[in-house]
Amino acid sequence: MNAFSLGVSDKDARVGTLTTAHGKIKTPFFMPVATKGSVKLVSMEELRSIGIEAFISNSYVFSLRPGLDVVKKAGGLHKFVGWDRGIFTDSGGFQVIRPEFFQKIDDRGVTFRNPFDQALDVLTPEKAMVIQNRLKSDVAMCLDDMPLPGSSIARLTESMHRTFEWGKRCLDAHENKRQLLFGIAQGGTNAKLRKKSAELMNSLPFDGLALGGLAIGEPSHWVEKMVPIDTKEMDPEKMRYLMGVGTPEQLVMAVSLGVDCFDSAFPTQTGRHGLAFTRKGRINLANRSHRFDLSPIDSECACFVCESHSRAYVHHLFRTGEENGMKYLSFHNLFFIQHLMTRIREEIESGSFSRFRQRLKWK
Ligand SMILES: [Zn+2]
Repeated sequence: MNAFSLGVSDKDARVGTLTTAHGKIKTPFFMPVATKGSVKLVSMEELRSIGIEAFISNSYVFSLRPGLDVVKKAGGLHKFVGWDRGIFTDSGGFQVIRPEFFQKIDDRGVTFRNPFDQALDVLTPEKAMVIQNRLKSDVAMCLDDMPLPGSSIARLTESMHRTFEWGKRCLDAHENKRQLLFGIAQGGTNAKLRKKSAELMNSLPFDGLALGGLAIGEPSHWVEKMVPIDTKEMDPEKMRYLMGVGTPEQLVMAVSLGVDCFDSAFPTQTGRHGLAFTRKGRINLANRSHRFDLSPIDSECACFVCESHSRAYVHHLFRTGEENGMKYLSFHNLFFIQHLMTRIREEIESGSFSRFRQRLKWK
């Protein structure tokens, strides 16, 4: 059975439903990042109250701390972290290529220094599958070879072929049939290679496809240029997941190009630095200009921060180093994104998404 069912479309924007072992998720949707099984400064109860349907964790980190034996004893990742909705797990390949851990990458896998005890370790496609199968997440991601921004054509080509070969090995090693498996298309910002990579990954029997290696530091207009190249090659009956995108502007843009799912640490990360999303763009509440501003962060936001507190109060929390300032903005930003995604789905369903998009005035 197909895990994704497509609903109505408004031009390229579309709504659909992803069926997972922990329920159905309406698309397009956004996932916060919970690398170690916790969204920074936001509790599971708060995520539920916001209406978050899924988050993404790093499977490799879990295999080290607390260890697969602990998660197994708890009965799987959901029971261990206390979350009964969707959990996606990444292979961890994205983190281990960071310069402080990375050693080398070849056809076998990625060799790196384990971040906890500095021991050398190799993450292979098979190992990434065994870990994710045992964690029992709802969606496992393939191990991919992600080129860094600015990579040469030779490196992009190598990564494209390797990601395809690893995709086949992941499919062979994937045994947990209650868990969905998504492939990841690469190709950097080279149009020809992106097209080829999306075509190759689409030819394999994955439950869904991700657009990888974008929104990792290249200028943002590249995302807009590359996404339609990928989506055009992808089977419309499969869910499309753009990894690493989480600004309101980019979410709306990518939905208009046919993307169904997103993840990013951006809403909570910027919240901890004093930045808040509003309908008129981002504001920095650490800034002294908000000292006397008794208006809410966003007058139309129904989150508890906007309903009970002023910009001046949140500014005061930042000025005095009170942690609730960071906590409140993390909550508000996630609430804002969740509300935006709900609105996007409604606008697509009523055929007014393009008009809605034109009316938005981000600064
Ligand atoms: Zn709010």
